[in-house]
Amino acid sequence: MKPVFNKVDKRIVEELGAIVGPANVFTDAARLEAYSHDETIGVRGAPEVVVRPAATAEIAAILRLAQRERVPITPRGAGFGLSGGAVPTHGGIVLSVERMNRIIEIDAANMMVTTEPGVITGDLQRAVEAKGLFYPPDPASLDSCSIGGNVAECAGGPRAVKYGVTKDYVCGLEVVLPSGDVIESGGKLVKNVTGYNLVQLMVGSEGTLGIVTKIVLRLLPLPKVQVDLLVPFDDFGAAADTVSDIIANRILPTAIEFMERDSLKAVERLTGNAVPFSDANAHLLIQLDGNSRTAVDADLEVVGELCMANGAREVLVADDQVTRDRLWDARRKIINALNHESPMNHMEDVVVPRAEIPTLLAGVKEIAARNGVRVICFGHAGDGNVHINMLQDAIPDDRFTAMVPKVSAEFFELTLSLGGQITGEHGVGVTRRKHLPRALGQAQVDVMRRVREAFDPAGILNPGKIFP
Ligand SMILES: Cc1cc2nc3c(=O)[nH]c(=O)nc-3n(C[C@H](O)[C@H](O)[C@H](O)COP(=O)(O)OP(=O)(O)OC[C@H]3O[C@@H](n4cnc5c(N)ncnc54)[C@H](O)[C@@H]3O)c2cc1C
Repeated sequence: MKPVFNKVDKRIVEELGAIVGPANVFTDAARLEAYSHDETIGVRGAPEVVVRPAATAEIAAILRLAQRERVPITPRGAGFGLSGGAVPTHGGIVLSVERMNRIIEIDAANMMVTTEPGVITGDLQRAVEAKGLFYPPDPASLDSCSIGGNVAECAGGPRAVKYGVTKDYVCGLEVVLPSGDVIESGGKLVKNVTGYNLVQLMVGSEGTLGIVTKIVLRLLPLPKVQVDLLVPFDDFGAAADTVSDIIANRILPTAIEFMERDSLKAVERLTGNAVPFSDANAHLLIQLDGNSRTAVDADLEVVGELCMANGAREVLVADDQVTRDRLWDARRKIINALNHESPMNHMEDVVVPRAEIPTLLAGVKEIAARNGVRVICFGHAGDGNVHINMLQDAIPDDRFTAMVPKVSAEFFELTLSLGGQITGEHGVGVTRRKHLPRALGQAQVDVMRRVREAFDPAGILNPGKIFP
C-alpha cells in the first residue's frame, strides 16, 4: 500500500528547532537547494526542511516526531551518492548527519575504530594510518563522502580486489530505527553469532531501514611496501585480457583499475595536466602491496611480464608517493571529467564475475555501436565492476533521454547473462529501482519489501528508494 504523507508545517519546524536548536533547522529556499540533489545527474527533489542533529538522542526524537506526523524523512551523509539515495523525492525532512563528525576512538589494542557517521572517509583513513593501522575501502570520492554514507551504500573502491568492501569491515552499529528506538548491534567483536546479523542487513540498506549513528570498523596493520604501475595498451581487448591473466596467475593485486583512452583524455582537458601515454587505447592502473619488498617485487615482475606478453606499450612503475598520488588523482577525477565532456553523461555501474570482464567490455562496445552512442568505460576491473558512461555529445536531448533506459536495459541483460548484477557499488536508489525485479526476481523483491515493512511499517524512512 502506498503511504500517505503529510506536509511539514510551522509547528513541526518549531518542534525540530526545540530538538536541535533553531540554528540547525533550515527552511529558506537558498539553503534547501544544496540538499535537493546528490551527485546523480538528473535526480532532484526539494526538501521542506533540513535538520542537522548532533546526537543520537536528537535523531531518535526527530524520528518519533516524523512518525507521529507521518512526514517522510531522508537521511543524508555528504550527498556524494550516485543513485539519488539522499535526494528527498517525496519532500519532507532531510536529516543530515554532517555535524556528527567525530572519530570517537582508535583502539589499537583491538585494531578497531569507533566513529560517528559524518566523518569524511579520507580523514578516517589518515587518522588510523597515523597509528600504523589501515582501513582499506577507498571509494574514489573518499575526500568528499562520509563513512555513514559508505555503510549505507556498502561502498567499494579500487582496493576491493584484495581487501573487500565496506561490509567486510563493519563489526558494530548503533542505529536509530524509524520508531525512534535505538539499537546497538555487534561491537568490537571479531566473532559474534548472537541472533540475526542486523549489522550486515543495515550495510547497503541505503537509508531505508534506520539511521546509522555510530560505527565500529575493524582495521588491519598498514602494509609496509606499496607500488603502483601504469600500463598503456594499444588494444582495448588486450588490456581486458591482462586483468583475467593476472588473477589466473594467482596474483591478487591491491587494485586493478581499467581506464579507456577517452576517460584519461577528458581528465587531461579538465586538469590541464598531461597523463603519460594518454593516446593509448586503454590503461591499467595496478597497485601491489605487502610487508616484504622481496615478495612485492616478485609479484611486480610477474605482473610486468604478463602485461608485456599481452602487448603493453610500457610498464611505468611509480615507487614514490608524489608519482603515485599523481596517477591516482587522475583516476579519481574521471567522473568529474566525463561530466564536463558532454551536456549529459549517464553512468551505469555493472558488476560481473571478474573472469567475464573481456566479454563484458566487448559486449558493451557492440551495444553502444549498434545504438549509435559514445560509451566510455572505466572502473574497478580487478573486482569485475565497470562504470559504463553513455555520453550525449550532439544527440538531441529528447532522443538521448529516450535512448538511455533502452541502452541501459541492454547493458543489464548482458551483465545478467554473464552471472553479474546491475550495480556493484553505487546502489539502486532512485535510478535503478525499476530494474530490481528483473535483476533479483519478484519473490526476492517481495521478501526485501517485507523486511523493510518490519522496520518501517508506515514507510516514512527514505521513501521512493530501492523498490520499484
Ligand atoms: C566522483 C565520485 C566518485 C565515486 N567513487 C565511488 C567509488 O569508487 N566507490 C563507491 O562505492 N562509490 C563511489 N561514489 C559514490 C558515493 O561517493 C558513495 O556511494 C558514498 O558512499 C556516498 O556517501 P555520502 O556520504 O556522500 O552519502 P549520501 O549521498 O549522503 O547518501 C547515500 C545514501 O546513504 C544514506 N545515508 C547516508 N548517511 C546515512 C546514515 N548515517 N544512516 C543511514 N543512511 C545514510 C542516504 O539516505 C542515501 O541513501 C563516487 C561518487 C562520486 C561523486
